[in-house]
Amino acid sequence: MSLAERVRKDFPILGRMIQGKRLVYLDNGATSQKPHQVIDALRTYYERSNANVHRSIHTLGEEATELLEAARDSVQFFIGASSREEVVFTRGTTEAINLVAQAWGRRLKPGDEVIVTELEHHSNLIPWQLLARDRGCTLKAIPVTDDGFLELERFAELLTPKTKLVAVAHVSNVVGTINPIKEISAQAHAVGAIVLVDGAQAVPHLWVSIPQLDCDFYAFSGHKMLAPTGIGVLWGRRELLDQMEPAWGGGEMIKEVWIDHAEWNDLPWKFEPGTPPIAGAVGLRAAIDYLNAVGRQAIRDHEIELTREALARLSELDDITLYGPKDAEARGGVVSFNLSGIHPHDVSQILDQDGIAVRAGHHCAQPLMRRFGIVGTVRASFYLYNTLEEIGALVRGLRTVQELLGSGSGARGPGSRRG
Ligand code: PMP
Repeated sequence: MSLAERVRKDFPILGRMIQGKRLVYLDNGATSQKPHQVIDALRTYYERSNANVHRSIHTLGEEATELLEAARDSVQFFIGASSREEVVFTRGTTEAINLVAQAWGRRLKPGDEVIVTELEHHSNLIPWQLLARDRGCTLKAIPVTDDGFLELERFAELLTPKTKLVAVAHVSNVVGTINPIKEISAQAHAVGAIVLVDGAQAVPHLWVSIPQLDCDFYAFSGHKMLAPTGIGVLWGRRELLDQMEPAWGGGEMIKEVWIDHAEWNDLPWKFEPGTPPIAGAVGLRAAIDYLNAVGRQAIRDHEIELTREALARLSELDDITLYGPKDAEARGGVVSFNLSGIHPHDVSQILDQDGIAVRAGHHCAQPLMRRFGIVGTVRASFYLYNTLEEIGALVRGLRTVQELLGSGSGARGPGSRRG
């Protein structure tokens, strides 16, 4: 029995009918579906233990605190962090990156430089644009090859003693490229810069071990890895977190407060003002247990098989352009393409009539779209519950799209209709 056949029964939503057809969910890059183990953990939490954390000296308050902190331990082991103090809960990847931009970014001075890449999600670009604007810094980008790889020779040229931070995606959410983080970290550290990794598309799919990457900050979201929305993680190197002032103020992040000053709480709470996403953390722990039980290597192997099949079957279609690395092993389970002359939104709308959910648009990566000279792509993105049959359904659906809308001048236009 394949991995997908074994796990599908755990995901109630996969039995849903859309337009009279069984749902084919290929939008996992946007968010993943949730197994009943995660849904049950949330229900149990709300039915038995719901209370606010840290401040409450009563049974429920203590249980909720224990659950939140147990989730932190789970995350620590899942990503191989050396201490639980380095695991900060946020609402997601976006908030984690903004936290670093706000808190660590205060040390930047006019003339300092930040390097991003041309394939970043806007979440790992706009916070650096704001920072560069506010601190008088310069933002530079590592270019991308036609195949969606970073041009590492150009990176070496961009790095100077003025470079203070390199912000890079571990896996591209558009073309799936797995970037060589260890190599990037080594080069950045050689000029005294630190490295922040956007792991939103990596942690759910690859066996990420932070010590092996040698980066300084790593951000990811729970909702793309079977957990609920509203929970994410910032991992930070302890020395850096220790040196940083809080990004935001509020309750929970202080030890003692006077009218005109305050003493900050210990790590990691210094960076967690207000009520944390407790239920989200409970769900994230259940998701981590689930992923560990299935086996991360098994998930990765399954996604390589799906990606290889998708690349092979899609390239048999006429008038199709596929983006990103040709080799399934060099990429995550994300395949972006365009059917010539047909707008990606139209492709997605027609596929939806067959119950097939894909994403169409610029995928919050407009600089990459500009690099490829397109307004957007259609993106199919896979996870552990997807099957080879579903890829067959996608290919059949695309043939129908081509029959209905024909081919023409290419999906290049003045701009996309939706984001
Ligand atoms: N970075 C990448 C590479 C992503 O794919 C996403 C989600 N599409 C994000 C950042 C933002 O994640 P979130 O919306 O969960 O904060």
